[in-house]
Order: sequence, then C-alpha cells, then structure tokens
Amino acid sequence: MSMITLFQCLIINQSWYLRFHQTSDSMDKIWLSSPHMGGNEQKYVKDAFHENWIAPLGPNVNGFEADIQDFAEVEHAAALSSGTGAIHIALDISGVGQGDFVLVQSFTFCASVNPIKYLGATPVFIDSENDSWNMCPYALREALIYFEQQGELSKIKAILPVHLYGMPAKMDEIMTIANEFGIPVVEDAAESLGATLNGKHTGTFGEFGVYSFNGNKIITTSGGGALVSATAENISLARKLATQARDDAPHYQHSLIGYNYRMSNICAGIGRGQMEVLSERIEQRRSNFNRYMALFTELGCDIDVQVEREGTFANRWLTAIYFNPETYGEGFREELRLYLESFNIESRPLWKPMHLQPVYEGSVYFGSENNAERIFDFGLCLPSGSNLTEEEWSRIEGAIRDFTNR
Ligand SMILES: *Cc1c(COP(=O)(O)O)cnc(C)c1O
Repeated sequence: MSMITLFQCLIINQSWYLRFHQTSDSMDKIWLSSPHMGGNEQKYVKDAFHENWIAPLGPNVNGFEADIQDFAEVEHAAALSSGTGAIHIALDISGVGQGDFVLVQSFTFCASVNPIKYLGATPVFIDSENDSWNMCPYALREALIYFEQQGELSKIKAILPVHLYGMPAKMDEIMTIANEFGIPVVEDAAESLGATLNGKHTGTFGEFGVYSFNGNKIITTSGGGALVSATAENISLARKLATQARDDAPHYQHSLIGYNYRMSNICAGIGRGQMEVLSERIEQRRSNFNRYMALFTELGCDIDVQVEREGTFANRWLTAIYFNPETYGEGFREELRLYLESFNIESRPLWKPMHLQPVYEGSVYFGSENNAERIFDFGLCLPSGSNLTEEEWSRIEGAIRDFTNR
C-alpha cells in the first residue's frame, strides 16, 4: 500500500472527514421512508405463481383482507389498487355527486381531496388544531353552521378528516359533530394504520376508513389500498364498484358506473407478508420518533410535535418537527433541509395545505387561526424508515447536531 492510500484510509475513518468532505455522490442516500420487507412476502407471491392466480382476485386478496380485518378489528375490508381509489369509492357510495360539498382537512396530501373533484363535487377546506395537527372540530362546526344558515346543509355529503403522519385526529369530537348534523364520515387513515384512540383503530370510527399500502407507507404492497367499514353492504358494493360494477347476469350487464380498482393477487401476497411484521414496524417507527426527541432535548431545541394525548396511540409513520420561528427565524427549516440534502439525507417539508394549492385556488376555507399554514411553513419530516441502520442514524444525528451547533 502506498503512503497516499494509507493516508487516505486513515482520514476516511474520521467522522469529521466524512461529514465535511465526502460529497453526497459517494454517500448512500438515506430515504425519508423506504419499503422494508419482512421475509415471507416472496413466499405468498410464489404461491400465487404456483396456483396461477395472477389476477385481481385470489387467495392472497382474500387472505390479506382477513388480515386487515383482524388487525384493525373491523368487520369488513376490501383490498383495492390504491388508497386514492378507496377514497373515491367511499365518497361515491356516500352519495357525493355533481354540485355537492365535502368538508375535508386542508392540511393533507392531495389524494385526500382529488376524488371529491373526480365526482364533480367541491371540497370545503377545514383548518387543523394544534395538538394532533388534524381537522379542527371548532372550524368543522363553524363550516356546518355556515352551510346550515345558507340552507345548503343537505349538499354536504361527507366529512373527511385525516390522521396525518399516523396521529389520530380528534375523532370523538368530530364524530359527535358529524352525528349531530347527520353527515357520514370517511376517515383518511392512509398514514395511520395501527394508530388507535382509546383502543379503537383509526379508520373504524366513521362510515368508511381508508388505508394505503403505497411504497413509502408503514407497510407496502408496492402500491395498493383498502377500504374498511362495519357495514357489510358498504364493502360488497365497494367490491362491485371496484370491478366495473357488473350485475349478476351471465352476460356483461351494468346498472352502475364502476371502476377498475381491485388489488392484484400478487400485490396482496406482498401485503400478507407485510402484515406479519406490522406490529414490529409500528414499534420501530415509534422508536425513531423517541430517538429524535432525545436528540432535540439534548440539543435544547425549541420544537413542537404532534401531541400524543391520553388514550392516543400514534404509529409515528413519519417524525414531523415544527421549528419555532420565534427562536430560529423564518429560514431555518429550509436551511436544515438543504444541509441534510448535502449529505444525501432526504427530509421533506410538511404537506402544503390544499387551500394554498394553485389547483384549489379560490376554494372556501374555514379556520380563524391558520394553523395548517403555520405548521407547513416551519415543519420538516425527518428520515423515518423502520429500516434505518446505526450507520445511517449516526449520519443523521451528526448532521443535525452540527447544523444546530453551527
Ligand atoms: C398516501 C396517501 C393517500 C393515497 O394513498 P395511495 O395508496 O397512494 O393512493 C391518501 N391520503 C393520504 C393522507 C396519504 O398519505
């Protein structure tokens, strides 16, 4: 070994050298949230090949649905091709159509809202509250009273709260208000599989609940979703709508407009393997959150997070941190994000509220505190995969330490 390479070996082993001098190209990317297989997924997929169930139905689809029902303690589940499709079907069955309104949390991913438009209806956006960062019950009531006063309450066909980043929304309050006004609730639990409120799973409070198994969710089928409900007719109708709404006849006959939204038996095989490790994945995500909390406490940072109130169990799908702008100034969040990016560490601003999106410009928005906007402005999602290695953790923690001590 020449002197030069020996010297290089020595300094490359210094963490200061790694942190300050290695370019991002030579460091493996640390993802925000990447797929994490449990081990048995391929066995179920292999079974599907073996039995030639290469179709949007089959034993894995049935098995996966049963697994979801058992886990979430819900009577009925339909495995679908995406969470977005599940929301679309839930709203369709709820009677949402041309000229109607749906009251939806503004602080969310676009997939919560776009299906309202697919059905020709109009979203009405509701602000978030400061504990859960989810739908504010006060703003929800304000919106309902406004529509009632306008004589348009009957046009509101659904209320759609979201359990963002795996933190349950204030479902007791939301359900009380929804029942008072007689409007069905569709819960977007795409990010919150396994999160509970007083022991009851998110997705099982409303008329419908939606889960997602996209590639970055807490478990994945590579792409997929599920619709759950306590009512058998809801889910049998959902299955029918998801397979082109075929009537019971030997020929192809249709009395409804359907969709092609069923989950494939291959994807469901991945899902069955993932369900075996779901509880472990939740513990891993929660432990990520605790590890970040320990770090920020040690660094004395002035931050806020979604509060896990008494009786609440969050899955902490992503660790989301709000950096108080009074302490850090306006640009801190973006500087930290870019700093992490320079070390090939992916982090991401929180969901941009839907009432601020160009595509939803001019929409009606209820909320006097603008919490969604403020949280979006100063919040950041940190790498939260259940498969982060110790080496990756030391890169993340080192970068955050250096940045906050700079
Ligand atoms: C992922 C997600 C969806 C959509 O699920 P897909 O399976 O990707 O269609 C809906 N709502 C929220 C809040 C999500 O995070």
